[in-house]
Amino acid sequence: MSIALEQISKHYDGTAAVNDVTVDIAEGEFFVLLGPSGSGKSTLLRAIAGLTTIDHGRIVLHGRDVSSVPAKDRQVGFVFQNYALFRHMTIADNIEFALRARRVRVNERRRRRAELLALVALEGMDNRLPAELSGGQQQRVAVARALAHEPRVLLLDEPFGALDARIRDELRRAIREIQRAVGITTILVTHDQEEAFTMADRLGVMDRGRLQEVGEPRALYTVPRTRFVATFLGAANLLLGHDDGGGVRIGDSVFRPNRRSSPATVNGTEATIVIRPEDIAIAHEDESAYPHPIGTAAVTELEFVGSSERIRLKVTSSDHLQSALSPDAGAFTIEASRNAHDSETFPLVSGQPVAFGAKRIHVLSTRISTMRLIAGTEAAGKQLRESVLVRDLADRMHIVPSVRVTGADGKDPLLSGLAVVALEDGQGLAGAVRVLQAGACQVLAIGNGERPVERLLIYTQPSRPARDGALSAAGSLLRHMNIDATLLVRADERFMYGRRYRYLLDIRESALRVHGVDVRTESFRGNIVHELALRLRSSATTLLLVGVTSTASGRVLIDGLGKLVSREACAAILLTSARGEPEQRPVWPEFRRYAVARGAVARKTSSCKARFAADRNPAGARLPGG
Ligand code: ADP
Ligand code: MG
Repeated sequence: MSIALEQISKHYDGTAAVNDVTVDIAEGEFFVLLGPSGSGKSTLLRAIAGLTTIDHGRIVLHGRDVSSVPAKDRQVGFVFQNYALFRHMTIADNIEFALRARRVRVNERRRRRAELLALVALEGMDNRLPAELSGGQQQRVAVARALAHEPRVLLLDEPFGALDARIRDELRRAIREIQRAVGITTILVTHDQEEAFTMADRLGVMDRGRLQEVGEPRALYTVPRTRFVATFLGAANLLLGHDDGGGVRIGDSVFRPNRRSSPATVNGTEATIVIRPEDIAIAHEDESAYPHPIGTAAVTELEFVGSSERIRLKVTSSDHLQSALSPDAGAFTIEASRNAHDSETFPLVSGQPVAFGAKRIHVLSTRISTMRLIAGTEAAGKQLRESVLVRDLADRMHIVPSVRVTGADGKDPLLSGLAVVALEDGQGLAGAVRVLQAGACQVLAIGNGERPVERLLIYTQPSRPARDGALSAAGSLLRHMNIDATLLVRADERFMYGRRYRYLLDIRESALRVHGVDVRTESFRGNIVHELALRLRSSATTLLLVGVTSTASGRVLIDGLGKLVSREACAAILLTSARGEPEQRPVWPEFRRYAVARGAVARKTSSCKARFAADRNPAGARLPGG
């Protein structure tokens, strides 16, 4: 591995500019960091170069931990946006600057300078001053200068920012060629999506200090995992689908998403569907738009852009067809684009009714796709909408919350996505439980006198980790909130012998792989409600996330939590229900099966237990009490 970043965090004035970034970059790779302005890209790059310190984590360059090595000893070359050439020095002196500082002999300096000027195609320009070169040429000199001392890593921070479009294009190609010729591992920072696509071997998308997703450009574009990446990497139509057991229903069609790239959804839950404009199919009103018909719409805008045509369609929302951005709005817009050939064979006019469908769709693995505020009255609903947490989440997740006033019986059959209720005095979790019983998979109960959330505590009753609703919800939350998260795992006496230790490993692995959350795990002994009470006492700015099963023990847990939140202050509590998931089986049968499968002779229980433990704990991970 050429560059390994492990859980890098950097705070300015208490807020994280870079939050828990972990990524590996291979030797010779051209890696692009893409994100909006202020997302932490430059901070991360400067941290790698050693130009800024980090608060947490490790930076490993070619196997060497350089976290506390000074910048000049990291073998890193850096190019900034504003060409930082020395104005009063010739090109030759600029390029040789780093070599002179390293006391390289004059002959060697000359040889290296000639080589570099040839590499960046500026031979013979040695004696010019920077002001005598064009912007593009100056940036090429900056690249040559950064490569002079033969660094093993090249970092480029928006190097094309100040150039006009044509020169930028040329320089992109030049830099990519130079990088290939030298074979140097490179990270380029940009906020330009097209630039990222054309240059990257792999792409990392940053937002609010977090590295949201990493992948090859095409994969991130076609199968993103988050709303942010789906919409940041280009225009995207977001529709709301519903899992109906066999697939995801959207409008007139049921899609069977690829289970490997899509989440395991539970019957009845919502899913966010991404359809790119070029993947929208348009047909005559009385025909079906193949291959996946969705519904009908009216053409509202047509825009001719030479090679293609941009079309806006107005769709009237129905029970079957809703926008995932504001599901309760009456109508929404679909963006489509067609190539010149299609627009000639089937010309459209403004106002024309059409049928539309999708050539390709993608189901997002975001657990929280809509937010509904459940309240007894309109006024109470408005109050919920004003709560800090709701405003924050809605803003960050690009969700427009809708208010739903419940009837006298408090039942509402249409609950999915994230339901939000107020924690009422003396009621415990009764309101939240009613919503769960009405079929919701996740309910957020917000305390009054709510404070901004600073940390997330997660506990989940054992269920199959890959399908764990609590972890999946945690993943959604953590991608969008700048907070620390801790997963609590019970460690009883049987912990190290039984399935629980296995479970701990599974749950961490799965949290990272399936849900994209890297959380700290802490074990505790005894009763979870007592444990949470202790932890709440030390900080009331906690959001509790508790996954409960729909079994007797789930009911006992909810009961305990209800008493807890009536007694202790917490910012909010999010309950997720693992509907239909089996509860954890007893430890012993599992252990026996394992022992037999491993050929361990289970003559003496104690030795077999020990072997099991040693096998399960090869790296000597710390176990409770040990
Ligand atoms: P990007 O390069 O993605 O535009 P930056 O890494 O420059 O983002 O900044 C990330 C966040 O950190 C921003 O909110 C910015 O205001 C803050 N920040 C960056 N550098 C400093 C600094 N030296 N002092 C205080 N805040 C900073
Ligand atoms: Mg920047």
